[in-house]
Amino acid sequence: MTEESTTTLRSTLHSAPNRKSWAGRPRIPLNPKAAARMASMPLSYRADYKRAATGRSIRAAINAMCRECFGWENVSENIRGCTDPACPLYNYRPYQKND
Ligand code: SF4
Repeated sequence: MTEESTTTLRSTLHSAPNRKSWAGRPRIPLNPKAAARMASMPLSYRADYKRAATGRSIRAAINAMCRECFGWENVSENIRGCTDPACPLYNYRPYQKND
């Protein structure tokens, strides 16, 4: 992937789809396996996971995957310090900037 296409994809992911631009898509119901998984995670991450699992946000899907990768524990610090640059989500993982 070129630098330009990475930048384009990044801006698409950041500018996008959390809510409005995908509003016209058909709603995907939360399937029972996703509902069970959602019930097992901390409350604060459930809304993002639900947006991902119902096809409403790619950004939420990436965030949810990275949080799950660390078992929802100390997520901002762990994901920021992720040591797997070979992971396809590495360049898109949340918490990359120190806020
Ligand atoms: S980028 Fe890091 S934290 Fe996110 S899914 Fe990949 S390995 Fe896990």
